[in-house]
Amino acid sequence: MTGSLPALQRREEERFAREHPRSRALAERAKAHLLAGVPMHWMAKWPGGFPLFVAEARGSRFVDVDGHEYVDFCLGDTGAMSGHAPEATLRAVAEQAARGITTMLPTEDALAVSEELARRFGATRWQFALTATDANRFSIRLARHVTGRPKVLVFNWCYHGSVDETFATLDAGQVVARRGNLGPPVPPSETTKVVEWNDLDGLEAALAPGDVALVLTEPALTNVGIVHPDPGFHDALRGLTRDTGTLLAIDETHTICCGPGGFTKAHGLQPDVVTVGKPIAGGIPAAAYGFTDELADRIAASIELEDVDVGGVGGTLAANALSLAAMRATLDEVLTDEAFGRMIPLAERWTAGVEEAIAEAGLAWHVTRLGCRAEYLFGPDPPRNGTEAHAAGDFALERYMHLHALNRGVLLTPFHNMALMSPATTEADVDRHTEVFAEAARELAG
Ligand code: PMP
Repeated sequence: MTGSLPALQRREEERFAREHPRSRALAERAKAHLLAGVPMHWMAKWPGGFPLFVAEARGSRFVDVDGHEYVDFCLGDTGAMSGHAPEATLRAVAEQAARGITTMLPTEDALAVSEELARRFGATRWQFALTATDANRFSIRLARHVTGRPKVLVFNWCYHGSVDETFATLDAGQVVARRGNLGPPVPPSETTKVVEWNDLDGLEAALAPGDVALVLTEPALTNVGIVHPDPGFHDALRGLTRDTGTLLAIDETHTICCGPGGFTKAHGLQPDVVTVGKPIAGGIPAAAYGFTDELADRIAASIELEDVDVGGVGGTLAANALSLAAMRATLDEVLTDEAFGRMIPLAERWTAGVEEAIAEAGLAWHVTRLGCRAEYLFGPDPPRNGTEAHAAGDFALERYMHLHALNRGVLLTPFHNMALMSPATTEADVDRHTEVFAEAARELAG
């Protein structure tokens, strides 16, 4: 199958270059004053040789500077899961911006947002940050502080943002810096234990010495392909963490795709900490981390008022009025219970379409879905852990699938074969992807 891949890839790259002269010219100009010719280094990794420059994004679609329209299933890798530029968020942002953007003082929106987050996720006391990375970093720091324990435990091939402690992987059972980890401050084995997802024996052994402050995990892995928990995994995880006095943080930044209260609410999890970022303010930088009352009391009692501004938690712009206004509007009016009722069936439709096309082409691939997110992997069976999921990756094939789709007006989440549905996504958007995917699958099958 992959014998023809280089030729197909060349064909798509030529088409991409031919049809995007303005993006190509901007990418050329960008090389002078932007590192690697992009404002954020990983934008250089999009397939096609240069990134598309966006003119406008609205709802489930965006238009590039060459005038091509795309159905967007990437949605800013979840940052725009609300759909681009949702009306209610736009209105709230415009009104709040005119009333002041940041003051280092609370606005009433903070109360409304914390009440809504408590309703959704169960965690009762909340703090705000600007990114999910920060929400995770601050949760780790607070967990180490209140437990007096040095280590964090994560699952192999997790991703929680650019958090030093989590940039670790297993190599022959040893914790090492994961490939691509730039300038780790200390060897990650000093800060971190890594266990394979779904490996309860490994988890039990790692928690037994009582030196882990916090287990930080997504409730289902989404950053190495979607990997579901085995039945009973979460109960055991909660039991083992409780038994060893270890705190448990569930990162719902991506798994909010499972419903208004994420996987936590949908499956009745009872973590000590919930972290969430990306889409909760419609794309305006905002994140939140919430605690149980018990942990919140422990934290509050352990910090001197005189020291709260220098504890390594927070940030000048954290909890700014604009982010909170955007969060309130997005949660109350965009990513509503009712919206999830439409988004999840769209992901089911996407999954069914892709499964049918895979079967018709006779490819040994499969599709996994998690709420309103779905993804195909280049292997016949769903992986049980990050290592299996990582092994099913195929960089060249993935780039081809993405570029093929892009040339036909469909954007997938980069570095995965993932699609996310927004409240603005339509059945026609989903069917367009199915059509394009089926064409690529047929060609690859030869
Ligand atoms: N947590 C999870 C589960 C994520 O997938 C990501 C980003 N992909 C983050 C945290 C970090 O988000 P951000 O880059 O917006 O800080």
